[in-house]
Amino acid sequence: MKKTLAIVGGGAVGLSSAIHAYNFAKDKINIIILEKLDRVGKKILATGNGRCNFTNIYATYENFYGEDSFFTKYFLEQFSSQDTINFFYNLGVLHTVLENGKVYPYSEQASSILDALRNKIDSLNIPIKTEFDVKNISKKNDKFKITSAKGETVLADKIIFATGGTASPNLGTNGGGIKLLKSLGHSSTPLTPALVQLKTPTEKVKALKGIKITGNLKMYSKDTFLKEEYGEILFTDYGISGPPVFQLSTLFARYKNLIGYIDFMPNFTEEDVFNILKDRKKILSYTNLENYFNGLLNKRLGNIIAKTSGIEKLSFLVKNLTDDILKNMAYHIKNYKLEILDTNGFNNAQVTAGGLKTKEFNDKTLESKIIKGLYCAGEILDVVGDCGGFNLQWAWASSYVATKACVKSMI
Ligand SMILES: Cc1cc2nc3c(=O)[nH]c(=O)nc-3n(C[C@H](O)[C@H](O)[C@H](O)COP(=O)(O)OP(=O)(O)OC[C@H]3O[C@@H](n4cnc5c(N)ncnc54)[C@H](O)[C@@H]3O)c2cc1C
Repeated sequence: MKKTLAIVGGGAVGLSSAIHAYNFAKDKINIIILEKLDRVGKKILATGNGRCNFTNIYATYENFYGEDSFFTKYFLEQFSSQDTINFFYNLGVLHTVLENGKVYPYSEQASSILDALRNKIDSLNIPIKTEFDVKNISKKNDKFKITSAKGETVLADKIIFATGGTASPNLGTNGGGIKLLKSLGHSSTPLTPALVQLKTPTEKVKALKGIKITGNLKMYSKDTFLKEEYGEILFTDYGISGPPVFQLSTLFARYKNLIGYIDFMPNFTEEDVFNILKDRKKILSYTNLENYFNGLLNKRLGNIIAKTSGIEKLSFLVKNLTDDILKNMAYHIKNYKLEILDTNGFNNAQVTAGGLKTKEFNDKTLESKIIKGLYCAGEILDVVGDCGGFNLQWAWASSYVATKACVKSMI
C-alpha cells in the first residue's frame, strides 16, 4: 500500500513541498495538502507589495537570525537563490533582478508565483483540503492522525508541518501551529513582530506625521552601534516606517534599549552642516527661525530641529543664533534621537522573529527530534531573514531539504 505524506499549511513551504515531493517520489506515495483558509497561498499574493520579491541573489546565512546564527547555512547551500530561480523557471516564471539583488517575477505580479505553484499542483492531481484547520496530531502504530477544528481526520505516514509564524494573522498565520507543536513537546524562542514599523515616543514624531525624508537610520543598543540603513523614512503619529525601518526592525527582537538616530543630511559631515548653518545665518540675517530652514529641510522638520536644539520660539531672530546653538542644530540634524519603544505589532508585521527552537530539529533534514516522522520548514522555525526576498528564500530552501529527506525515508 502506498504511504501518505500530509503537508500541513498551504503557504510558500507547503505548495513548493508538494511539487518537490512529487518530483522525488513520482507515483510511489500519496500527497495531500491541508490548509486552514478557504484557499492556499493567500500570503504569497500580499508579498513584495503585490509583486513578490521571491528571493535575493545575495542570500547567505548572514542574512538570517535566530538562536543558532549558522542554522540556515546548510539549507541555503542545498537550495540557493539560483535554485529558486531555476525552480520557478521550470514552472514558467521568468525573473528580473531589481535593486539590492531582489528577485521578482518578470511580470512583477505576485499572482504569477502563486498561479505557477497551483497550476503545477493541479496538473499533478495533488489533492488540497481547504478549510482544514489542523488542531490535533496524534500517533498510533506509526501512523499520524491529523484532526481538524471541525473534527475531520486524515491519516498520514509522514508530515511536513509548515503553518508559518504569527505575523499577519489575517493571512492565516496566528501562531496556532507553533502552539500545537508546543503542546506536543516542542519549545519556542520568544515571538516578536519583525519587518514592521517601529514605535517611538509620540512627542518626537507626531508633529512630523506624514513627512517622508530620504536619510540614514542608525541603530544603537545603548551606546553600541549595531547597523544602519539608508532610504525613505516615513513619520507616523506613533513612530517611523519605511524600508530602512523595516530592515532594522529585526534588531528589536535581539537587543534591549534600542535607540535610532536619523541623519537628515547624510551627504554632509556634521562640520559641513555646521558651516552651512553658519553661512545661512549671514544670508538670512533679516528674518527669524520660522524661515531659517526654508530650502534646507522640510519646514515642520526645521521647527522640530529648532525646538530640539533648545529654541522654543520661532520668532527668534536668525542674527542672534550663536555658534553653540548652530552646533547643537547640526548635531540634531545628523543625529535625531528616537528611542524605540516597541514594534507596531503582529497585525502589521511581515514576519515573526523567533519560532520553534531549531536545536529540536535535525540540522540536515529538519525532522523533529521529538515527533519522529514530522518535519518543519519555513517561518514556523526560529529563523528570521532581512527584508529583500530572504524570508521566502528560507521558505523555498527549507522546504526543499525537508521534503527531500522526508520523501526519501518513505520510498
Ligand atoms: C505583507 C507581507 C509581505 C511579504 N513580502 C515578502 C517578500 O516580498 N519577500 C519575502 O521573502 N518574504 C515576504 N514576506 C514573508 C513571507 O511571505 C513568509 O516568510 C513566507 O510566506 C513563510 O512561508 P511559510 O510557508 O513558512 O508560511 P506561510 O506562507 O505563512 O504559510 C503558512 C500556511 O499555513 C496555513 N496554516 C496556518 N495554521 C494552520 C493550521 N493549523 N492548519 C492548516 N493550515 C494552517 C496558513 O493559512 C498559511 O496558508 C511577506 C509577508 C507578508 C505578511
